[in-house]
Amino acid sequence: MSDTFEIAFIGVGHMGGPMAANLVKAGHTVRAFDLSVELLDAAAAHGATAATSAAQAAEGADVVVTSLPGGAAVLGVYMGDQGLFASLPAGTLVIDCSTIDVFESRTFHEAAAAAGVLAVDAPVSGGVVGAEAGTLTFMVGGTEEAFARATPVLEAMGRKLVHCGEPGSGQAAKLCNNMLLAISMVGAAEAFALAKQLGLSDQAFFDVASTSSGSCWAVNVNAPVPGVVETSAANNDYRPGFAVALMQKDLRLAQAAADATHVSNELGRHALEIYERFAADEAATTDFSGVYNKIVAATPTPA
Ligand code: NAD
Repeated sequence: MSDTFEIAFIGVGHMGGPMAANLVKAGHTVRAFDLSVELLDAAAAHGATAATSAAQAAEGADVVVTSLPGGAAVLGVYMGDQGLFASLPAGTLVIDCSTIDVFESRTFHEAAAAAGVLAVDAPVSGGVVGAEAGTLTFMVGGTEEAFARATPVLEAMGRKLVHCGEPGSGQAAKLCNNMLLAISMVGAAEAFALAKQLGLSDQAFFDVASTSSGSCWAVNVNAPVPGVVETSAANNDYRPGFAVALMQKDLRLAQAAADATHVSNELGRHALEIYERFAADEAATTDFSGVYNKIVAATPTPA
């Protein structure tokens, strides 16, 4: 098989749009489909061909990539009488880059195997900025053979690929990582709020925490207070970055996985409750580090 492929790309939203554009830049032929005509036009402006259905996009494709809002959309596109698995030739490679439930992802893999199709789950980290720059991290679940076939396609959209193991393990890694991220962000926000209340400047606390045992991504890279890390969303009026609604979605998926596997994740569950409350107020438009402002708002000013 040649180094460039015929690729069907289903779901050209915030992430899928720039990912599809990077596949075009790498020399692949991309046929895009999305429910939104505006987004399809935008994909066409970046060199993809607009298809009128997922099935039409997938006709003759070596590879199908999906970047969809959730598990229901993914299973809807691939499964059932009208789903792609009913018509894709054996040996086609499918790559699901959506973040979905681990158990739904395993269902996706089982159906792919039954159809003779090679599949990987390949959720991403790096956000829209990483999708545009082609610097995403892909957490990949699937067989060695499927991972090897997916590698050149994923390399056109990302900088780091981690083969996490068996089918569904990319989703598992993604949910565990984001549960940890949410817990550490709430911890960082509480620590900055307490430091302020005790009379420390944000800078003084940052200088200590970022270089000692409190150091973590939520402090060092996306500090929840303005003025200490140039690139953090706090310096951009808490515009995402990584929106509260997306963190809420991932925490729900992590909680479903923890419940199903009987893991006692008290902090993960608590982080979900905190982000559920936050999302009810500010949903999609605020970076998840804005949880700091909720903590400050609930703190009386010192006398
Ligand atoms: P999005 O809502 O912007 O894009 C999803 C696209 O899928 C939309 O354009 C929608 O019209 C399309 N779609 C839905 N159902 C469809 C169907 N049946 N057929 C064709 N198109 C369909 O979402 P996004 O931000 O691009 O995220 C995509 C995935 O990546 C999600 O699973 C999300 O959790 C994950 N993710 C997002 C980010 C981020 O920062 N946005 C970061 C990491 C992971």
